[in-house]
This record gives sequence, C-alpha cells and structure tokens, in this order.
Amino acid sequence: MEYFVMNNGVRMPMAGIGVFLFTPAEAESAVKTALSDGVRLIDTANAYLNEKAVGRAIKASSVKRSDIFLVSKLWPTVYGSDTAVNDTLRRLDTDYVDLMFLHQPTANWKDGYRQLEKAYREGKIRAIGLSNFPEEMIREALAEMEIKPQMVQVEAHPYFPETALKAMLKPEGIGLMAWYPLGHGDAALLREPVFAELGRKYGKSPAQIILRWHVQSGNVVFPGSRNSEHIRANFAIFDFSLTGEEMAAIAAVDKDKRYYYATPEIVRKYAAMDLDFDAQE
Ligand code: NAD
Repeated sequence: MEYFVMNNGVRMPMAGIGVFLFTPAEAESAVKTALSDGVRLIDTANAYLNEKAVGRAIKASSVKRSDIFLVSKLWPTVYGSDTAVNDTLRRLDTDYVDLMFLHQPTANWKDGYRQLEKAYREGKIRAIGLSNFPEEMIREALAEMEIKPQMVQVEAHPYFPETALKAMLKPEGIGLMAWYPLGHGDAALLREPVFAELGRKYGKSPAQIILRWHVQSGNVVFPGSRNSEHIRANFAIFDFSLTGEEMAAIAAVDKDKRYYYATPEIVRKYAAMDLDFDAQE
C-alpha cells in the first residue's frame, strides 16, 4: 500500500472502495469483502443512505477501527446543524471519521465548514475535505477559514485529469481523491488501446493500469464495485510501476471530457433536497 500524507500529517491509503449508489445490503457486502481483502479506505456519504450498513460491515470485520480510514460527507441541508457530525458518527457506529467532506459547494458552505472545524478540534474528524468545490471556492476557504482543508474530492480520470486544479492544490499540501476514477465504468475509456497494451506488459487489466496511473499521479482512488473479483483486483496495483514514458502515453488520452457536470441550478437543487438520512436499513 502507498499512502498520501496530508498537510496536517494524517496519512491515508491511496486506494480503497466507494459505495455511491449501493443499497445498504450491497454496501455491507462490498465493504466486508473489501476489508477481508486488505482494503482499508472506505468512502461513503450522508446522501448515499448506506452509512449504517458501512458501520455494520466495519463492526463485523476483525479489522481494528484504527487501521481503517473512513470517509463520509455532510449533505448541504445539514451544513447549519449542530448535530450533523454526531448523527453521522452514530449512523456509522464510530467515535470519529478520518476525513469528512462538505459534499457540495452550496451557498451555505461556510456554515458547514465551521461545523467541521469544530468537530476537528473536538477530535471527531481527523481531516476536512471539500467535494465538488471549484478552484475559486477552494481559494476562498484557504483565505477565510481557520483550518486549511486537507483533501478535495472531484471527478478525475484519464479523460479528465484535473491537471490545473492539482497544480493549485499541491503547494497547499491538499490531496485529491478522484471520483469516477474508472470513468464510472465507461467502456470507451477502459478500451483505450494504451491500457490493453500496458496491461499485457504488466499482466494487469485496463482498470488496474488506470488505477495505477492515478496513484502515480498522486490521486487517491476508491472505485465502486459490487464484484468481489474487481474489488480484489482494484487493490492489486501496488506490485508494479509505470515508467515516465508510459505515464506520458496515458496523459495523451486526455479529452477534457467529464461524465458529470453540476450546473449552478443543480447545485441550488441539492441545497433544497431534503433527505431523511436515518431512513435506511
Ligand atoms: P468508478 O469510476 O469507480 O466506476 C465504477 C464502475 O466501474 C462500476 O460500473 C463497476 O462495475 C466498474 N468497475 C469497477 N471495478 C472494475 C474493474 N476492475 N474492471 C472493470 N470494471 C470495473 O465510478 P463510481 O463507482 O461511480 O465512483 C467511485 C466512487 O466515487 C463512488 O463509489 C463514490 O464513493 C465516489 N463518488 C463521489 C462523488 C462526489 O460527489 N463526491 C460523485 C460520484 C462518485
């Protein structure tokens, strides 16, 4: 395993699993499989409505809580609430999370950020993250907030490598977690000839080559999978290295293509989307 060391000294594994769009039963099963295969980074969110299932899978495993790096995200409707962090901990059945994000850059984000700062000081979260925040809002957080963010979570993959954003984050010691690291499973991306070619050389699948490219680019990856073979394979990316030339060949597939783009209108809708986070098995 390789680790990213954050600007506050906290160390996080560079590969794990995400459970976006998983039912509670699917999340519980995938996290159990992942933990038994050695995966130690788990990414969920209030809005995924599967935090309780993730908590159950962690409790059922023989892995010590301190060996797991648990990530969750607050939804905008609770940014102003004093209980949102405690409610998240209760659903996850844990005393702390390793990294907590503000999930969306809605107008009330500063209320949420102050709440995360409070939780950080109280030892309830070990790091603060901004998810889906554009560069100018990250700069605003750096200028106005007392505690620097440690991580940013955005869409990133070989078709959309976020090169400019990374250049801005690096001097601040802020890491990047790449969501849709496999392009949400897009066959066109997975079938790019460069991945098959390098896969043959290293005895790896195209998905593993993509994930290895992420890690060597400094991105933390947490692909979603319900398939136990994929879960295992997505973690088996630390026994080989791509050369500088191979990294450059992968960089050439950049199409400036993202799969998802939230317009300001969609972000406003998120702020009003009142989810019942406790209504989950
Ligand atoms: P992904 O790029 O990880 O792709 C997942 C798809 O790839 C699935 O269809 C899966 O079956 C397939 N796949 C997984 N492993 C494979 C393998 N080894 N070979 C071939 N196919 C494989 O996209 P994702 O799962 O949607 O995103 C990853 C995580 O990012 C999510 O689970 C979630 O935690 C996070 N996420 C965060 C946000 C955000 O707003 N912060 C948004 C979307 C996703």
